[in-house]
Amino acid sequence: TSAQIGVTGLAVMGRNLARNFARNGYTVAVHNRTVARTKALVEEFGGEGDFISAETAEEFVAALERPRRLVIMVKAGGPTDAVIEEFAPLLEPGDMIIDGGNAHFADTRRREKALREQGIHFVGMGVSGGEEGALHGPSIMPGGPKESYDSLGPMLEKISAKAAKDGAPCVTHVGPDGAGHFVKMVHNGIEYADMQLIGEAYQLLRDVAGYSPAEIADIFRTWNQGRLDSYLIEITAEVLSHVDAATGRPFVDVVVDQAEQKGTGRWTVQIALDLGVPVSGIAEAVFARSLSGHATLRAASRGLTGPEAAPLGKEEAAAFADQVEQALYASKIVSYTQGFHEITAGSEEYGWDIDLGKVASIWRGGCIIRAAFLDRIRAAYDTRADLPSLLSDETFAREIADAQDDWRDVVIAAVRQGVPTPGFSAALAYYDALRAERLPAALTQGQRDFFGAHTYRRVDREGAFHTLWGGDRSEVSA
Ligand code: NDP
Repeated sequence: TSAQIGVTGLAVMGRNLARNFARNGYTVAVHNRTVARTKALVEEFGGEGDFISAETAEEFVAALERPRRLVIMVKAGGPTDAVIEEFAPLLEPGDMIIDGGNAHFADTRRREKALREQGIHFVGMGVSGGEEGALHGPSIMPGGPKESYDSLGPMLEKISAKAAKDGAPCVTHVGPDGAGHFVKMVHNGIEYADMQLIGEAYQLLRDVAGYSPAEIADIFRTWNQGRLDSYLIEITAEVLSHVDAATGRPFVDVVVDQAEQKGTGRWTVQIALDLGVPVSGIAEAVFARSLSGHATLRAASRGLTGPEAAPLGKEEAAAFADQVEQALYASKIVSYTQGFHEITAGSEEYGWDIDLGKVASIWRGGCIIRAAFLDRIRAAYDTRADLPSLLSDETFAREIADAQDDWRDVVIAAVRQGVPTPGFSAALAYYDALRAERLPAALTQGQRDFFGAHTYRRVDREGAFHTLWGGDRSEVSA
């Protein structure tokens, strides 16, 4: 017998993905650099389906039916290149290498191009949902040549998560070469923003409203029944209600408050800077993690003055919690607006022709940012595929209009009480900047023309102009 798919790289993700394929009836060839992992997989889970265990690269390749479908689930970066170099010479034209790691999309573009010249189809595939998702159904974002999806797609549709609303598989052919990994990157950037906004809501409920972590967990549970219904809100309630066994204190109070990161959030911001896309909410989320980690700087700053927190009374606190829900929801709309803008810009830059409604659709299940909300985004793009921004969707615009008084009050309260809310504030500033009739960018242009003769355009005439600042200040055409 031969395997319909092979997985090399059997750490948590690869192992669970291989099991997922096997549980869905596929024969799966499995391989890992360190053979012990392959053996352990077959020993522990061999009963779940048909596995062909391969010790060498040659055995692995020989076990696959043609055209071969070979999934790589190894550490992103150098290891992925090493594995490709090992396997590519053993493959034949028409075979497929599928990289399910968290590759940078620029690497994926490079690898796709190199392998295309050998006639090998290279699929850069974003996978979200962590180890549980990999086993029970992740959200899958494959890029690469369209024809590869014809044979790979149905298998991915089988193992992927299904959206709760309509049972649609959370996978689609995102676009050519690096499109899948790009979309996965932005997914992670949005995830950073979502988490930061939730963190700010928590901090406000704690310091301004005066609630305990257990009470805040209940508030999040209530929110999870409404429009904020999402995996991240759900697990937030779980984390906040957890009590540390050793000390009896809230778990959240015994964890060191320094957030770590693996890099996809940073990439999202770096690429946004390159593409000129304002993803201020995502950037603030990445910076907030970075700031939290600067222990020495924070310790040295502890003596700086600020307002004393003065928690609200019971009734006021409940009213404030409702306002925080509004601020969180409005800020969330802004983060998604920014993330989808980045996908639009990437799609234009690289000619990917990404369907934004489809992206929203496949994030509805399996992935970390899965949420009822995404179905609304899908609907917005279904209504109008060329929506200039999520904020120009009527429903979202109306919701923000309804939320904005509370949103502003919350930011004011945060500023008054000295609670940092970079996410809420940046989102609000983005909203106000976008809707502004005039921006101080006109002044910026004047300054640039003054010190560097960079020229400016006028509101009343076509062309580029320069004012002779050092002379008689008359205007010349540039
Ligand atoms: P790791 O990222 O920890 O990678 C470990 C695997 O890579 C092992 O199988 C290891 O083999 C293999 N490996 C490392 N270097 C080499 C090399 N030079 N040559 C061959 N094999 C090598 O595993 P994860 O399962 O956590 O993640 C796999 C991929 O999936 C990564 O790219 C990750 O970013 C991505 N991912 C992870 C998610 C998660 O929640 N963990 C979620 C989504 C994507 P050996 O056993 O021999 O050391």
